[in-house]
Amino acid sequence: MKIVDALLDMNILATSELAARYRADFPILNLKVSDKPLVYLDNAASSQMPQAVIDRLVRYQTSQHANIHRAVHYLSEVATQEYETARRTLQHFINAREDREIIFTSGTTDAINLVMHGYGRKFIKSGDEIILTNLEHHSNIVPWQMLAEEKGAIIRVVPINDAGELLVDEYEKLFNPRTRFVAITHVSNALGTINPIKNMIAFAHKHGVPVLIDGAQAAAHIKIDVQELDCDFYAFSGHKLCGPTGIGLLYGKAKLLEAMQPFKGGGDMIASVTFEKTTYNTIPYKFEAGTPPIAAAIGFGAAIDYLSGIGLDAIAAYEHELLNYATEQIAAIPGVHIIGNTPTKVAVLSFTIDGIHPHDVGTLLNQEGIAVRTGHHCAQPIMQRFKIPATSRASFSFYNTKAEIDTLIAAIHSVQKVFS
Ligand SMILES: *Cc1c(COP(=O)(O)O)cnc(C)c1O
Repeated sequence: MKIVDALLDMNILATSELAARYRADFPILNLKVSDKPLVYLDNAASSQMPQAVIDRLVRYQTSQHANIHRAVHYLSEVATQEYETARRTLQHFINAREDREIIFTSGTTDAINLVMHGYGRKFIKSGDEIILTNLEHHSNIVPWQMLAEEKGAIIRVVPINDAGELLVDEYEKLFNPRTRFVAITHVSNALGTINPIKNMIAFAHKHGVPVLIDGAQAAAHIKIDVQELDCDFYAFSGHKLCGPTGIGLLYGKAKLLEAMQPFKGGGDMIASVTFEKTTYNTIPYKFEAGTPPIAAAIGFGAAIDYLSGIGLDAIAAYEHELLNYATEQIAAIPGVHIIGNTPTKVAVLSFTIDGIHPHDVGTLLNQEGIAVRTGHHCAQPIMQRFKIPATSRASFSFYNTKAEIDTLIAAIHSVQKVFS
């Protein structure tokens, strides 16, 4: 497993100073909850925003706001320039070949729906097959089911083993001449598993099948290079990378984006409109109908600059250290079970406690100021696979500390005492 080796290698470079250095950039982390210092361990659902991004949003709103692409006046030109600069920041962040391969969406969900409508509804027909995996978020299941229902297409699902790893042999066996599309998550939001997507993409391409990667959980934790991965589509959301909500990205290979039909119709996505016929704008504008969330896009760019300033490799190494520290201690508590035990994972710890419903765990941890996620994590098929209704999930970011993990461990012991 190459990624693990790389992570372990980087561990040598890991600096425990990371949180100490950058934590102060996040004003919200000074909050008290239930009279206790906030311990924010719900980063897989949404991460927090550093002052640099907040300042960028304020600067935009106080001195740069106007509608983009529409006018020759000063503010419209500035806003357009800043919006397009953010697009290029994202292009470089994932090493896309061209900036027109970056489409601003409202998030991962919107990006996947764009591909379903723009590519799926045009190219997928009755009897065609779409491959998903047992590890998908509902965002990367439901749009494909809607398409399958509309077209009479068939969904195939790659199974997982007890460690929460995809069975790649089974994936390869699913391919046949009717296979038309593959949609896989880079990292499981419920278990943290990092999937071997590079090989899976290469295999699909041998069969001439395009691949969409849901990168919502990966982009904040792993350096992404879409050219090296050779994926056809890659999607993620700003709010999971220290950016604002309401903004996300779809990367697509230019050739595919050009062949696709628009998803939403409206202003800015057209070249000319008459009541007889409308011709569409070039990419990326063909897919950006209407006034986009300009401020959020610029804030997204600022968040990427901030993360790049720290370095994704340093972030991955430090978070891996946090994961190991937390895993060792949680695994040692009798009656606590970690769900998803692959060594190839990001800093997500899903666990159950014997005899205590995850909802009660979450409620009691909240009384200690600790924010974890409890539930099915928008991934019910994973819960069904492990025959559990829900888990508690602690997910770490580079601004978390080992002291916060100690607080979590002590709180889990207290929860067990309450129920004993
Ligand atoms: C969060 C998440 C999504 C959905 O992201 P939105 O920002 O809610 O659109 C999709 N897939 C995965 C793996 C996620 O973690």
